[in-house]
Amino acid sequence: MARAVRALRGAAGPGLERGPGAGPRVRFGPSPTGFLHLGGLRTALYNYIFAKKHRGTFILRVEDTDQNRVVPGAAEGIEDMLDWAGISPDESPRRGGSFGPYQQSLRLDLYRRASEVLLERGAAYRCFCTAQRLQLLRKEALRSQQTPRYDNRCRHLSPAEVAEKLSQGLPWVVRFRLEMGVEPFQDLVYGWSKHEVAEVEGDPVILKGDGFPTYHLANVVDDHSMGISHVLRGAEWLTSTSKHLLLYKAFGWDPPQFGHLPLLLNKDGAKLSKRQGDIFLERFAQEGYLPEALLDIITNCGSGFTEKQMGRTLEELISQFEIDRITTHSALLDLEKLPEFNRIHLTRHIENEGLRQKLIRDLQVLVEHVYGDQQVDQEVLEKEYVEQVLLLRKGHISLLKTLVSSDYSYLWVRPSVTREQLQSLSAEVDEIGKLVLGLMTRQTAALTVEELNKELKSLQKQTRETKYSTMMKLLRLALSGQQHGPSVAEMMVTLGPKEVSGRIHKALSG
Ligand code: GLU
Repeated sequence: MARAVRALRGAAGPGLERGPGAGPRVRFGPSPTGFLHLGGLRTALYNYIFAKKHRGTFILRVEDTDQNRVVPGAAEGIEDMLDWAGISPDESPRRGGSFGPYQQSLRLDLYRRASEVLLERGAAYRCFCTAQRLQLLRKEALRSQQTPRYDNRCRHLSPAEVAEKLSQGLPWVVRFRLEMGVEPFQDLVYGWSKHEVAEVEGDPVILKGDGFPTYHLANVVDDHSMGISHVLRGAEWLTSTSKHLLLYKAFGWDPPQFGHLPLLLNKDGAKLSKRQGDIFLERFAQEGYLPEALLDIITNCGSGFTEKQMGRTLEELISQFEIDRITTHSALLDLEKLPEFNRIHLTRHIENEGLRQKLIRDLQVLVEHVYGDQQVDQEVLEKEYVEQVLLLRKGHISLLKTLVSSDYSYLWVRPSVTREQLQSLSAEVDEIGKLVLGLMTRQTAALTVEELNKELKSLQKQTRETKYSTMMKLLRLALSGQQHGPSVAEMMVTLGPKEVSGRIHKALSG
């Protein structure tokens, strides 16, 4: 017995040698069964924040023990999305680390040895029950309206009976002997908790016939051998924790501290819907949402922070986080507010010199993508022009891609308007042109839409016979080639004096 225990310790890695004072080690343990969704992101985020707050280590561990549910590529996708969200793990399948491998399917030897330790100690036993017998048990339980549970029959096999069955080559699994007398534990969020699991469950399988562990064994063995100090996970695991603690006890290991995060629900209290892919990170990324907006909204609807304002950066989330502030109330997520969160973060990005550079590049790519086949004039792709558009529209748009929607097409496609077209609206084309050009040169600082409206009204008074509405029609045509769209003043503000003057000159000479 001692040999197997030592072997397991040896495999436990340097985590066990962590000296006092070293930061906490936390992990996010998703099963790679699909895309990362907002619920998973939130669990990962709280772990990340906790680690960074206390100078600890954030680990990504892929829990792929249920091979039937594994989706190829999902594990990579999850790590990609953590990187995209800006909460990259310190140790992971991709990055490695001293406690790897970080994928449970590559750690089967460790679980096998762990189950041997439990078998040697009599804390686990081999179960030879056939699938038919188990199914029969289920049916009988359902018929008598009871929750199906294993009847622990193989617990009572004598060593001779076990040896006999093994010599016959009968298939077996390992079950953990659930003992009564669970000790309560203090959850960091839910306080004192305890679930007398043996009262409601049969002995659970911990190692399957194919040599794969089940979740409970793999989770406990890995949390121990990876030196995990704090387990922060969804509240749906709260009732499993007593079972995990029985496993820790059977191994003779000190358990980590547990903190269960209250559920993340829709704003009406229903389960977050994964249908139509509406909460997957990939979708938000594709639609152009900023990762900070997602981090902000999923923490804003929950607890754990000293403040609750919108627009918090990841650094602010870390500094405002206090684990004692997490309450047991479910977090109700109102995704209709997401555009507003994004507007605030987009504004912050535009205002930040460094972050703005990336937005400029992204917008250039969008413009080329959307308007490329309309032979976009290279000048509208120039950095200065794109940057000015961003600065002038900041605060007005929630998503960057709005700037390439049809309302804003005038920004990127310069109109080809003839003088005759303008003259058909008013005979005073030249006068109006001159007045506007004059205004554009006088305009030293950028005017607001309201100020410009006033200026345009006073220009109209200087014409002889052109009505205000006609002058607006004429300017709209000269500036955008269109008859509808945003107000003329807004277009002029967004285009800026240089571009407005250029377009008016072109229209007058066209
Ligand atoms: N693999 C489990 C999940 O997908 C992890 C649970 C835990 O963190 O212990 O939720």
